[in-house]
Amino acid sequence: MSKQLFFNKFQEFVSQYKRVVIVSHVNPDGDAIGSSLAFYYFLLKFGIDAKVVIPNDFPSFLAWMPGIENILIYDKNSEKGLEYLNNADLICYLDFNHQSRTGLVHNDLCHCKKTPRLLIDHHRDTDYSQFAMYLSEAETSSTSELVAELIQYHGFDKYMDDKIATCLLVGIMTDTGSFAHSIYHPETFEICGKMISPNVNYQLIHSKIYNTFSENRLRLLGYCISNRMTTLDEYHTAYIYLTKADLEAYNYQVGDTEGVVNFPLMIDSIKMAVLITERQGVIRFSFRSKGDFSVHELARAHFNGGGHTNAAGGTLECSIDEAIKEFLKVLPEYKALLDK
Ligand code: 5GP
Ligand code: MN
Repeated sequence: MSKQLFFNKFQEFVSQYKRVVIVSHVNPDGDAIGSSLAFYYFLLKFGIDAKVVIPNDFPSFLAWMPGIENILIYDKNSEKGLEYLNNADLICYLDFNHQSRTGLVHNDLCHCKKTPRLLIDHHRDTDYSQFAMYLSEAETSSTSELVAELIQYHGFDKYMDDKIATCLLVGIMTDTGSFAHSIYHPETFEICGKMISPNVNYQLIHSKIYNTFSENRLRLLGYCISNRMTTLDEYHTAYIYLTKADLEAYNYQVGDTEGVVNFPLMIDSIKMAVLITERQGVIRFSFRSKGDFSVHELARAHFNGGGHTNAAGGTLECSIDEAIKEFLKVLPEYKALLDK
């Protein structure tokens, strides 16, 4: 289904439904929350009873966002979440394309598989057969940009408001590293320019997202770079690892390692950066790259994950030492691509 067809059909399609649940991915980021809340506000404008459900808590740097208090966090209130899902006549997936990315919600989503699904997302490798409607564009900065385009199609002046614009700017800003990567066309800047206004202050939003570190979080960043970063010159790669004990020592809060993985890419010769973190029962990988090297392919092939060319994630169920060993073991396979 082309973008244009989705836009043309959207209003008629969505008007058939009364109770709509918007679901986003586990460990929700700025784009997951921003696109979901903006879409939620947009659906309210059509008189639809919309709800937003996320599998687990959002990072505290997003706590100020408009509408955040309306989000249902499944691992804190799964009974109510299940009620929402069971009562929904449409379920919308925002900012992910594999149901397995919904953590705790996944099982309950399986139980209501007859409920039609709508997708708005910018990840690759989508199985479209499960969706009644989909807006799926990998060459777009963020899901928030897609929601912005959808709203613009229906009438920017009629439907865009300060809350929606703020949510969408958060999503686009965070998924592009403040407009530093993942921008495929000038329209990204154009639509952001339109959303900025006296009441929607870009610098203020940026400051609320990026200048709200706790002292512990900043010190953890320093520790990662000074004590835990290894550079592998022959592979143009650097990795950082963090154990559970490290996280505890810095009183880790959700979101505190967000952005850490980008720092090694500031080294001229580094093309891939990896953060390996020990989480509850699993090892979490965060990959970033510069240029053409696809961390999506690497994450998909070896780490049960995926994402985008320059940003991907994955997990392994093993110890942190084994995870590092596994990572070092696969590197030679990618040497030629990393040397390019
Ligand atoms: P992050 O490193 O910030 O957690 O994730 C980077 C990107 O990769 C995000 O766009 C995210 O959606 C995607 N991603 C992260 N983890 C996974 C995963 O386990 N599976 C897949 N398919 N994508 C992931
Ligand atoms: Mn995204």
